[in-house]
Amino acid sequence: MKKLKDKILTEGKALNEHVLKVDSFLNHQVDANLMAEMAEAIYQKFKNLEIDKVVTIESSGIAPAIYCAQRFNVPLVIIKKQVSLILDDKVYQSEVISFTKQKTYKITVSKEFLKPNEKILIVDDFLANGQAALGVYDLVCQAGAITKAFAMIIEKSFQDGRAKLESLNIPIYSLARIKRLAPSQIEFLEEEI
Ligand code: 5GP
Repeated sequence: MKKLKDKILTEGKALNEHVLKVDSFLNHQVDANLMAEMAEAIYQKFKNLEIDKVVTIESSGIAPAIYCAQRFNVPLVIIKKQVSLILDDKVYQSEVISFTKQKTYKITVSKEFLKPNEKILIVDDFLANGQAALGVYDLVCQAGAITKAFAMIIEKSFQDGRAKLESLNIPIYSLARIKRLAPSQIEFLEEEI
């Protein structure tokens, strides 16, 4: 998506070869108009799929995902990173290795909000090694629901997340695919330019 790529080029900061900072429009401050346009692009890609719910993981996936939910006219379910005592045994739980924090954490969702056979669109801000997306996918599976597609805002194609998701044979759409990062340098995959 050209507008997103332009925004990444003008405001994104490659901290090193692995991490891109996009705090000015996605992860800290949010460009709401851009979120709406990204949701439209995702809707156009997947509008022929039957989607009952959008599912994301807190916290950075929420901004784009809520616009997607609105566009598809379905609820948004936010996967929690905290194991809540209140939710207790009424939850599905999985484990994720965090790329940015280099630690393992648990994710949970209330059984009330993911039901068997519901058709799910998983949305997240970044696809890196795919752990977050696979964790969400696992919760969807535990619920007996069906992941119809993955929509990622920024994919770092030099990491292996896409390959892992592709092995599930579920459609993946990334709005910007980054081929290479280096300090002060951001290169997109050619097909995306
Ligand atoms: P994965 O689980 O695919 O390895 O990493 C995805 C998660 O890590 C995303 O939800 C995102 O929050 C975070 N993440 C991974 N890479 C980056 C990055 O380069 N920049 C930022 N801001 N977040 C990232």
